Amino acid sequence: MRKPVYFDYASTTPVAPEVATRMAWCLTIEGNFANPASRSHSYGWQAEEAIENAREQVAKLIVADPREIVWTSGATEANNLALKGAAEMYRAQNPLINGEAAGHIIVSAIEHKSVLDPVAWLENSGFAVTRLMPTSEGIITTDALQAALRDDTFLVSIMQVNNELGCINDIKALSEVCKKRNILFHCDAAQSVGKIEIDVNDLGVDFLSFSAHKFYGPKGIGALYVRRASDVKIATQIHGGGHERNMRSGTLATHQCVGMGEAAELGARNLVDECERISRLRDKLWQGIASLPNVKRNGSATQTVCGILNVAFANNAEDKCDGETLLLALRDLAVSSGSACNSASMSPSYVLKAIGLTDAQAQASLRFSVGCYTTPAEIEFAIEHIRETVTKLCKA
Ligand code: PMP
Repeated sequence: MRKPVYFDYASTTPVAPEVATRMAWCLTIEGNFANPASRSHSYGWQAEEAIENAREQVAKLIVADPREIVWTSGATEANNLALKGAAEMYRAQNPLINGEAAGHIIVSAIEHKSVLDPVAWLENSGFAVTRLMPTSEGIITTDALQAALRDDTFLVSIMQVNNELGCINDIKALSEVCKKRNILFHCDAAQSVGKIEIDVNDLGVDFLSFSAHKFYGPKGIGALYVRRASDVKIATQIHGGGHERNMRSGTLATHQCVGMGEAAELGARNLVDECERISRLRDKLWQGIASLPNVKRNGSATQTVCGILNVAFANNAEDKCDGETLLLALRDLAVSSGSACNSASMSPSYVLKAIGLTDAQAQASLRFSVGCYTTPAEIEFAIEHIRETVTKLCKA
């Protein structure tokens, strides 16, 4: 059976061959395999050196100090650490008064589940939470944030790029609103690191989560940027051994850290050119299918990251189009219906619903994501395949 063409880079990317080679060297007896915390022999020192080198590479990608990088298992853990860690620290400093909720958290309603679920957990444990609705283009505005602020707001979490829509929030403007009131700002940048240039100081964030497997590094490794400042503190979530300056214990996986470091360096090297190329391919794909009847692009077409294209293939319930039928019919393309992380459940995407789509429109939407290895020929093939399939299937 022929393999489908991969159009799911927003879900995960393959590891770059150069990265895989560096990683493999950190696994076997002849390579750099030791426990980096083993200080009593040169094997350990070498592993530690490789990890610190990788930390520098990762820090450089977001213009941070290496001491501000905490290794995690991915963006999910980084989000949990930032949100629960900041909330626990806040609670320790501001205990419950007569059982009243101590502290208010603001998030956007279209965050990834790895932000929404920990925040819901915090809500259950007594914090007050506001979930901001996006515009119909998927953008969170400073006006919406401003209007939600309370005297006891201590933490705001807004993603830079939405994983389903690809739209980009103005994090600098949003964080400025918070800075004026000494509110901590966390940003889930899993979909933006390696795709747009990021300078954490310019963005003004206190915490930033990201993940290697979104930019041609391995799965199972990510990082949380924690600003070095006396008022930016998180409580430990994984105890044991005091690794990562006591913020996240556990033996570091040298091959994973080295893989993320190498991917960060490769990504930084040709980020602008590569993103322009990928944007052109994505635009070509859209131009090739935009003229199909009842087709609509979801999310902002201008404030958007390279690579992601989310398309609704039906306008109303009478259109005989739904995502699952389309996915089956488009079996020569590997794409996502809504968010990949959601597709275990058949309920319509909460992100698409939040920007105003009906259940039927959301269910008839697909996310195509283009990446480093996508070729113009693959785009041509996809256009043909989509046009043929949709013309056949989606007649009102
Ligand atoms: N946040 C966003 C915006 C994502 O797209 C993802 C991955 N789908 C995550 C967080 C979770 O990242 P990880 O797979 O590294 O846990």
